[in-house]
Amino acid sequence: MGDFWRGLLKGSLGPPDNDSRFLLDVQSRALPGEETMRRYATDDDVDLVVVGAGAGGSVLAQRLARAGWRVVIIEAGPFWHPDADWVSDEAGSHPLYWTQKRIIGGDDPIELGKNNSGRGVGGSMVHYAGYCPRFHPSDLRTASLDGVGADWPIDYSDIRRHYEVLEAELPVAGQNWPWGYPHRYPSSPHPISGAASKLWEGARNLGIEMRVGPVGIVNGTFGNRPHCIYRGYCLQGCKVNAKASPYITHLPDALAHGVEIRADCMATRVELDDAGAAHGVVYHDGHGTEQLQRAKTVAIAGYSIETPRLLLNSASPRHRHGLGNNTDQVGRYVMVQGASQAAGRWSQELRMYKAPPPQVTSEQFYETDTGRGFARGFSIQTVSPLPIGWSEHVLADGHWGRAMREYMRDYNHWSTIGVLNELLPLPDNRITLADETDCHGIPVARMDYTRCDNDKANMEYSTQVITDILHAAGAQDVLTIRRYAHLIGGARMGTAPENSVVDADHRMWGVPNVFIADGSVFPTQGSANPALTIMALASRLAERLAGKRVGQKGVQS
Ligand SMILES: Cc1cc2nc3c(=O)[nH]c(=O)nc-3n(C[C@H](O)[C@H](O)[C@H](O)COP(=O)(O)OP(=O)(O)OC[C@H]3O[C@@H](n4cnc5c(N)ncnc54)[C@H](O)[C@@H]3O)c2cc1C
Ligand code: SF4
Repeated sequence: MGDFWRGLLKGSLGPPDNDSRFLLDVQSRALPGEETMRRYATDDDVDLVVVGAGAGGSVLAQRLARAGWRVVIIEAGPFWHPDADWVSDEAGSHPLYWTQKRIIGGDDPIELGKNNSGRGVGGSMVHYAGYCPRFHPSDLRTASLDGVGADWPIDYSDIRRHYEVLEAELPVAGQNWPWGYPHRYPSSPHPISGAASKLWEGARNLGIEMRVGPVGIVNGTFGNRPHCIYRGYCLQGCKVNAKASPYITHLPDALAHGVEIRADCMATRVELDDAGAAHGVVYHDGHGTEQLQRAKTVAIAGYSIETPRLLLNSASPRHRHGLGNNTDQVGRYVMVQGASQAAGRWSQELRMYKAPPPQVTSEQFYETDTGRGFARGFSIQTVSPLPIGWSEHVLADGHWGRAMREYMRDYNHWSTIGVLNELLPLPDNRITLADETDCHGIPVARMDYTRCDNDKANMEYSTQVITDILHAAGAQDVLTIRRYAHLIGGARMGTAPENSVVDADHRMWGVPNVFIADGSVFPTQGSANPALTIMALASRLAERLAGKRVGQKGVQS
């Protein structure tokens, strides 16, 4: 359909191949179908076993179940029952995060926990902020264009159509987008809060262009999902069902088409047969018993730390250093985005928590500008820390005791803006196995991270830009915090086993039926938040698997 009709019919067009929005219950927040979902025996040789019910795993499972595949998802975390399990409270939301032990190292060790990844049915998007930008075409060509990072083995045209379908499925609301590959969104932009207007005013005074959105948050109604109520608990798991996550956007349809989700089951290794193909996944079930789910195809979607960990823990005589690691690529090039934030104070009450955190954005600084003295760039997004997050801001700026108490009492007068820097993929930033083990006796992951000079220059420059925005908007006081967000890479896609773990079809080099379907396959990370691109890539992979353009065990590829 052309852009003219899409613009005219905005919001009234739903995705034809996903009924999740109608399957949800208007009276309850639970994922419909848990009690009645299809169950498979572990010795059923199902068509696909997916590790991880998050962004990538859920989209892949939903698509392939619709294509008639028999699919089992193994998920380490629980099957959420939001009416009982999710609370509108920062401290009470900790069970949503992956807080199991991980070891950190390097010159810039990354604090892991609530800010990085989730655990449970729906994955990290259950508590993501809802911001759904696309990558720019240049993100997939940074080596050719800017001499840094890596080129992807696919280009923007390979995922563009999937972006459009996913934006309709979530659905995404926002203004027409001028940056990267210019495009429009299926739903109109949300109204913005007074706190965000203040920041926009500062940007405008500096000649920085901003736009509203894009967010995967219902504006209007969408099937049985209601309009956002702007209460601001998006990072605590939206109890309204307005914010998109696979829990409500893909898993209802997946269960309706025969997917089984085996929750509270921790995958511990991928098993190969004598010919070197995978024949299933070993996991510890909810009772701690080891099980093997047999499958013709295995897809790993455990996110950027747990996916490399699972591969490294799947060593075998053919893969002595870990599955797919014969060229020492597994775990390398893991990335985080720089995510400094600056908060400004105004005399009037702004109540920044009264809206979803991401409201207005700029991608004006996204691409390389040689005048800035570093390669690639950053995006700017409004954010809105709740009180515990706010206390971290105050502390980071050096305030403690009585001063901190005053800043906490003053919370309603503040508004916050942040950046996402494209930090570069470096081979020594990597996931390895630590000596420590988890409750299953499985070695935990160690993440080493050190920034290069380009990363440091990018972070310093961008922090100054957001500080300038606050001053240009007349802030009376400014606090800044230097931090990191998101996880990407660790099992990247590429053109050869020497430079990657999987090929352009997400297939592990040398293993015909193991695929990686999460954020760990990204060779670069751009300055965009990753969830929509993870889903779009999983959608593309599903299309190729369903069309038999890449193979199952025993299927010609
Ligand atoms: C606080 C926060 C805010 C964010 N905000 C945004 C945002 O606004 N926009 C955006 O685009 N992105 C955002 N993100 C990032 C985004 O949520 C993730 O990038 C994305 O969800 C990752 O998708 P994935 O499929 O790779 O992994 P996930 O969605 O994390 O799914 C992985 C799943 O695998 C399971 N798993 C892992 N290992 C195993 C194992 N061995 N056995 C069984 N199961 C396993 C995990 O429990 C998890 O459920 C945010 C993240 C956080 C933490
Ligand atoms: S602000 Fe909107 S999207 Fe966020 S939790 Fe509330 S209803 Fe959900």
